[in-house]
Amino acid sequence: MSDTSRSTAPSPGRGLYCNRTLNLRSIKVIGYDMDYTLVHYRVEDWERRAYRHIRKHLVEAGWPVADLVYDPELVVRGLVVDTERGNFLKVNRFGFVKTACHGTRPMSYAALRQHYVRTMIDLSDRRYRFLNTLFDLSEGCLYAQLVDRLDDGKLPAEAKGYLDLHRRVRANVDAAHTEGELKAEIINDPDRFVVLDEETPLALLDQKRAGKKLMLISNSEWPYTAAMMSYAFDRFLPAGMTWRELFELTVIAARKPSFFEGDAPLLKVVDDAGLLAPQVGPLEAHGCYFGGNAARIESHLGVSGDEILYLGDHMYGDVHVSKRVLLWRTGLVLRELEAELLAVEQGREDQLLIGTLMAEKEALERQQRELRLAQQRRKGGYGPAVTDSPGSISRQLGILRSELTALDERIAPIAVRAATLHNARWGLLMRAGNDKSLLASRIERDADVYTSRVSNLLLATPFAYLRPPRSSLPHDPVQRPAGGRS
Ligand code: IMP
Ligand code: MG
Repeated sequence: MSDTSRSTAPSPGRGLYCNRTLNLRSIKVIGYDMDYTLVHYRVEDWERRAYRHIRKHLVEAGWPVADLVYDPELVVRGLVVDTERGNFLKVNRFGFVKTACHGTRPMSYAALRQHYVRTMIDLSDRRYRFLNTLFDLSEGCLYAQLVDRLDDGKLPAEAKGYLDLHRRVRANVDAAHTEGELKAEIINDPDRFVVLDEETPLALLDQKRAGKKLMLISNSEWPYTAAMMSYAFDRFLPAGMTWRELFELTVIAARKPSFFEGDAPLLKVVDDAGLLAPQVGPLEAHGCYFGGNAARIESHLGVSGDEILYLGDHMYGDVHVSKRVLLWRTGLVLRELEAELLAVEQGREDQLLIGTLMAEKEALERQQRELRLAQQRRKGGYGPAVTDSPGSISRQLGILRSELTALDERIAPIAVRAATLHNARWGLLMRAGNDKSLLASRIERDADVYTSRVSNLLLATPFAYLRPPRSSLPHDPVQRPAGGRS
């Protein structure tokens, strides 16, 4: 059956974006992460539930935080947390801080300059924590709120400062994710937490039938993986087929990112209850394994490096390390792209208007600097003769000053609107002012492709030759919006 209606271009939010040429026909193995990659969650519900568990640990320790509530707008993926100062930072591609909050409180421009004007954020410094995945939002939100409480003197004396606070939140996040109670709640009510997408199983089926070997590599444990994959996949697969048969290999409790660089042993999952046994001899087709490492998988499948494409949602654990260590081809799943590109579309007229007004501003500034130079030369008695009198130059400068002030007053509210698209506090994920954000530059560096969801591969087909657009350079001819003066 051919569905010609799907031959139309996808909406921007559902596009497959390419940083480096990727010929899917030369890919032999496609690996997938599970959480927030093959299985998408209702972020607000999942994170609110996780938040409740993290908070519960603190309440049990006697902290007065039972009244705190999860705020889904407070933090976004791609922010950097400065755990020494209790600050949240939006950083541009060069590592410079463009917007900041201290706890939940927006930081003034003066405070931002005072703390960060001479700082280039280096994520290898353990003081900084990058919010890599949607799973990091509940942690970020609670940490920001606790910073406020600490500042207000409302935490017990055992809270020893911002760094200590962060350590405690992290430990409680780990506990919430691993203790089993939270996961049991998700397993018991998947309708509430999981967003189904019937095109994802079909996209994988297409890939499998096109001869690709598929693998699933998740940090989740067996019961959770089995429950989520059955729920999200089995109903959409051909009769009698389950998610297990889609995958040549399933690895659970993979411990990414160390999975990609370590030599952890592999155990076999021997039954549906998740019983483990030592793995001896070659791996089985459609086998399910616990732990292990990428080198073992590569040698089992007889492939390596650029023959493997791996898609995941964790900027560091899925995409950065698999690219850096193994040179796998990589794809980042960034669900927020759908809302982000909708916001970009909504802000398009503002962007055009800013472009026009900025061109006018540049023209006025050019006149201003030429007059200033004329004034300086006349005063200094050097250089080419200046025909305008000092009084005339001053008058013209006065007029330009008021024109520039009026222009700035027109630009300011439009710029504020543009800076609050997508998230009122942090703006667009991929932008920091006019520049690329740190998140955008890391995606550019580590992800060969990025897209909002795996099912966007359906339209691309397993035979696509993906090419990046020609990248821009500052010296490229400028496309001025119609009506703009140069
Ligand atoms: P994956 O995305 O399929 O590899 O699975 C991610 C797993 O890591 C899920 O089981 C999450 O619950 C778990 N996880 C996410 N964030 C944390 C954390 O901060 N600490 C411990 N486990 C986490
Ligand atoms: Mg994931």
